[in-house]
Amino acid sequence: MNKTNKTYDAIIVGARCAGSPTAMLLARKGFRVLVVDRATFPSDTVSTHVVQPLGVAALARWGLLDRLTATGCPPVHTYAYDFGPVTISGTPGTPEAPVAYCPRRTILDKLLVDGAAEAGAEIREGFTVEEVLIEGGRVVGVNGHSKDGDRVTERAEVVIGADGRYSLVAEAVRPAQYNERPPLLASYYSYWSGLPMEGRFETYIRPHRGFAAVSTHDDLTLIIAGWPYSEFEANKRDIEGHYLKAFELAPEFAERVRGAKREAPFAGAVVSNFFRKPYGPGWALVGDAGYNKDPITAQGIHDAFRDAERCAIALDQTFTNARSFDEAMGEYQRARDEHVLPMYEFTCQLATLEPPPPEMQQVFGAIHGNQKAMDGFAQMNAGTISPAEFFSPQNIGAIMAAARAAT
Ligand SMILES: Cc1cc2nc3c(=O)[nH]c(=O)nc-3n(C[C@H](O)[C@H](O)[C@H](O)COP(=O)(O)OP(=O)(O)OC[C@H]3O[C@@H](n4cnc5c(N)ncnc54)[C@H](O)[C@@H]3O)c2cc1C
Repeated sequence: MNKTNKTYDAIIVGARCAGSPTAMLLARKGFRVLVVDRATFPSDTVSTHVVQPLGVAALARWGLLDRLTATGCPPVHTYAYDFGPVTISGTPGTPEAPVAYCPRRTILDKLLVDGAAEAGAEIREGFTVEEVLIEGGRVVGVNGHSKDGDRVTERAEVVIGADGRYSLVAEAVRPAQYNERPPLLASYYSYWSGLPMEGRFETYIRPHRGFAAVSTHDDLTLIIAGWPYSEFEANKRDIEGHYLKAFELAPEFAERVRGAKREAPFAGAVVSNFFRKPYGPGWALVGDAGYNKDPITAQGIHDAFRDAERCAIALDQTFTNARSFDEAMGEYQRARDEHVLPMYEFTCQLATLEPPPPEMQQVFGAIHGNQKAMDGFAQMNAGTISPAEFFSPQNIGAIMAAARAAT
């Protein structure tokens, strides 16, 4: 792509998990980057915040992990899945990236914004994009306003939508949408004191209910609970009642919660599931704007980080004329889809909260007690290894054979 004398190489709409890392990586390569967000940071958002081990590895690669650990965020070294009859408990990461963290988004997102600013990206907080400028079928910039109402037009080679699942950029460019699934789950969370987790991320799976607990900043524990979307309307009149009642399906956990204190109001969301083509003339999408899925497997943050790295590589190739825009961004889309599709299928299946079929219960029984298999299960749920790899006939065959040999 030939450079023009536009003000910026890239304008990025959205400064959280997808936008700020994309900006930071492009700015580190010397490109002129503007990031805008209507929020001002630190800023919270409706999302729980488990950063899976591979997301933690990305923070380390970018030189930001020490800043996160310096905030006192407790590491999570064990994932435990309680299915009622069996609990599968294992390590979620790799030897190089062994732990997850669950940092408050007020802290994580601010750290990412600062990383982008230090790399040389221009950050405009409190700036709302109202319109994506399209000339001759090509995106050329954005119109928006700052908090004090000043209206501004900015132009760039590429406008990147890192503006979340309700992306204005996507709405303007109308990308092809595929692999769509309707909302599957309604989930709600709050923060509790007096519920120590000792580095464990506990998930409880019961028929038509799922809930999970993990420690975050300030000695608080995040507990999220969900039910099928079909119950969304009926249950929203008494979220607390349904949330607490779910825990009774795991009496020991319910008892622990009875000894704890809720410290915040409930937040919650229902999300739809889709892929979008993430590029076109003068535009790109990263993070939830391009690929969104139910949060039950907590993949969104590290998916956004991975998009940031891949999109920055593709745009670097484009800006330096090493590859055409379509070729480089086509590769970005292909790699994203190939990587996430098995986890997407697994996530959508899990989010139905349908009881596992009998043959799957047998598999869970065989995994239980086999530490290597339990680690593999935890790593698969963390996105460290692919569900396609974990559920391959070869791997499941070996797990079943080991269980038979042990009896
Ligand atoms: C209930 C729930 C729980 C979740 N739990 C987890 C979890 O535990 N772990 C995990 O990895 N993921 C989780 N996710 C998913 C995760 O929140 C997202 O995948 C992640 O935030 C995506 O980051 P993003 O940067 O793409 O978008 P977002 O975080 O949505 O950021 C988009 C930004 O764009 C800005 N913006 C939007 N429109 C405009 C505009 N017109 N002008 C200016 N700015 C604009 C917004 O202000 C916002 O700051 C959860 C999601 C939900 C809903």
